[in-house]
Amino acid sequence: MGSHNIEPLNMMNPLDPEEFRRQAHLVVDFIADYYSNIEQYPVCSQVEPGYLTKTMPKSAPLRPEPIETILQDVNKHIIPGITHWQSPGFFGYFPSSASTGSFLGEMLLTGFNPVGFNWLASPAATELEMVVMEWLLKLLQLPESFSFSSDGGGVIHGSTCESFVCTLVAAREKKLNQFGTNRSDTLGKLVVYCSDQTHFSLQKACQIVGINLSNVRSIKTKMSMNFQLSPDALTMAVESDVRAGLIPLYVCFTVGTTPTTAADPLLILSEIAKRFDMWAHVDAAYAGSACICPEFRHFLDGVEGVNSFSFNLHKWFLTTQQCCCLWVKDRTDLTKALSTNPELLKNKASDTNKVVDYKDWQIALGRRFRAMKIWMVIRSYGVIGLQEHIRKHVKLAKHFEALLVADNKFEVVVPRNFAMVCFRISPFALATVANGCSDEESNRLTQALLESLNGSGLVYMTHAMIEGIYVIRVAIGATLTDEKHVNMLWDMVQGHVSGLLAK
Ligand SMILES: *Cc1c(COP(=O)(O)O)cnc(C)c1O
Repeated sequence: MGSHNIEPLNMMNPLDPEEFRRQAHLVVDFIADYYSNIEQYPVCSQVEPGYLTKTMPKSAPLRPEPIETILQDVNKHIIPGITHWQSPGFFGYFPSSASTGSFLGEMLLTGFNPVGFNWLASPAATELEMVVMEWLLKLLQLPESFSFSSDGGGVIHGSTCESFVCTLVAAREKKLNQFGTNRSDTLGKLVVYCSDQTHFSLQKACQIVGINLSNVRSIKTKMSMNFQLSPDALTMAVESDVRAGLIPLYVCFTVGTTPTTAADPLLILSEIAKRFDMWAHVDAAYAGSACICPEFRHFLDGVEGVNSFSFNLHKWFLTTQQCCCLWVKDRTDLTKALSTNPELLKNKASDTNKVVDYKDWQIALGRRFRAMKIWMVIRSYGVIGLQEHIRKHVKLAKHFEALLVADNKFEVVVPRNFAMVCFRISPFALATVANGCSDEESNRLTQALLESLNGSGLVYMTHAMIEGIYVIRVAIGATLTDEKHVNMLWDMVQGHVSGLLAK
């Protein structure tokens, strides 16, 4: 506790406009330089665990430090520990696409830094969110029933997981109210359905909202059925639960699953949900972006039959983290489950029910002005620019897929729906094994191929296990990825696979 004899900093003004201008320009230059040099960095960070905790000072600095010194340390200590998701050689997971429009929107929203929990707390934050959600609704040709002009509406959440939690709570409260009486008894009987391809965060959301994990049915899918959720399997599972006295609550369909980008048939599945009075949600976290192009919109056919729909702008829509757009068909389902009305926030606009108070559509009270970022992105690129962005990556994925198909050393394991290709080394690639090697041997070789490609630092991809088969997922969607990067990847795949097969 020696700090009591430190001189005070009489001159500090953390929001001096001229100092802001000077320092912010330095940071803008720093980021621009980062993007100019991005291909020089290993795509996946190669540091060892604890690298930073070992080198950083053990306690916070007492005195202010100049931005120049801090930026030097970003270069020296932080960048080596970054996995460069914006690198054109990044093909891992799903993309997290950035853009100038998004960066500038982020600056503006942080510049104002309002906390728009209700309309009055910043009318522009709420109303711009309603505007961009209506724009996106039209772009995706979502049904009018999801619009603010009928009983629905849209909200920006931080993540798909939050959208799962909020729609599950809405469904839970609706169901518990229907059953009235014994809440805890009914709660224990509620069942949630999904497929074994559904994103794992649905299970987390079920844990959060108090669904018995033994009542979460993960229905098995098959490669021969392109990993779609089978209407018959769903019906059978629900019927068997109903016979056992359980209560179907919620079912999640996915358009663009995480392992393979499979798309569930919404039209027929939503009919089943209605028949059993379940809440149906569509998770199109990754693939929703593609559906702004008319040639992909058919993947959403049937969405008019579900209760809610969400997709992540922060994956493939040139928008930085974190923006998950959620629409519901009946906004009162959400607000009945999530609203609070503390004395502290009482105001005329809210009392007369003339406004949307987004605090009642989400988990937290406080919220960022994310609509500013989305508005900037859409205006900066226009619908045509956004569609071109999607189509460019789809075209590159088709190109990469064609190269694989033409080479009998490889197998494209599942059909490509969007801009991700799943492949493995074919069991027939080893000339020494006439009848083809086993899946295990192919798995081992494919895994070794992925590790050697990633080890180069020039590219980065991730994998999935599907029906016992190890596949390399090539997710094309980084904003800077061009044909030359995909061709480089192909040359590398060729080089590394010959090395492996020669061993
Ligand atoms: C990425 C992904 C998620 C998780 O999204 P978060 O916004 O990170 O929670 C959920 N579902 C699918 C299909 C995804 O691809």
